[in-house]
Order: sequence, then structure tokens, then C-alpha cells
Amino acid sequence: MSDCIFCRIVSGDIPAREAGSSDEALAFHDLNPQAPVHVLVIPREHFGGANDVGPTDSERVWPALFDLATAVAQELGLADSGYRLVVNSGTDGGQSVGHLHLHVLGGRRLAWPPG
Ligand code: AMP
Repeated sequence: MSDCIFCRIVSGDIPAREAGSSDEALAFHDLNPQAPVHVLVIPREHFGGANDVGPTDSERVWPALFDLATAVAQELGLADSGYRLVVNSGTDGGQSVGHLHLHVLGGRRLAWPPG
């Protein structure tokens, strides 16, 4: 989608600091980090959010996101200290970008539950 900022990162139109990639997914550092490590993992294909991954795509898309997220966490040294994987969905979930993304947060102790 040409008007989707994350699709434009996938296509290279908008720069991003890459943290990892696979055939299905791309990982890059968040512009406004909420933790010492804050990486976003997105599918290369456009899905508006979690609700838009139907049964046809789910076996391909979700494993690709979680596989890359855990690889990035390992690569960035979070595996032993721990980290959090988050998908914000819709208004109450706090989703602000309409392209499915998984947050990888770590590098400090994270509070729970979220405020
Ligand atoms: P969410 O609020 O869950 O939709 O998360 C969207 C995230 O995208 C926020 O943490 C933003 O800081 C981040 N973000 C928005 N635009 C960019 C960009 N061009 N490059 C990197 N991160 C971005």
C-alpha cells in the first residue's frame, strides 16, 4: 500500500535502521524507543493489524514474525535478561500504525500490567 508508512519502509522508500530480515518479515529499530532495545517486526506483506490475519495467512505470517522477533532478541543480547513481545491492536490496544507489527522491548525491567 503506497500510503502505508511501514510498506514504504519495506520497499525502501523510507529509511529505517534494520535489525534483521527474512523472506516474510523485516525488523527495524523504533523511531521513538520505549526501552533501551525497541525493535518492530513487520510482515513484508500488508496486513492492517492482528484482526486482518485470517486463517489462510496465519500459519505463514505469525510464525514469521515470532521467529524473526526471537532471533533479533537473541542477536541484540536480550535472550538471557528477558524481553517482551507486544502486538497493539486497535484503539484500546494503542495501535497507531495500520500495518501489523510486533514490538520487541528489552534492556530494562518492564512494568506489568501496562498502564
Ligand atoms: P503502535 O503504537 O503499536 O502502532 O506502534 C507503532 C510504532 O511505530 C511506534 O512505537 C512508533 O514510534 C513507531 N514508528 C512510527 N513510524 C516509524 C518509522 N518511520 N520508523 C520506525 N518506527 C516508527
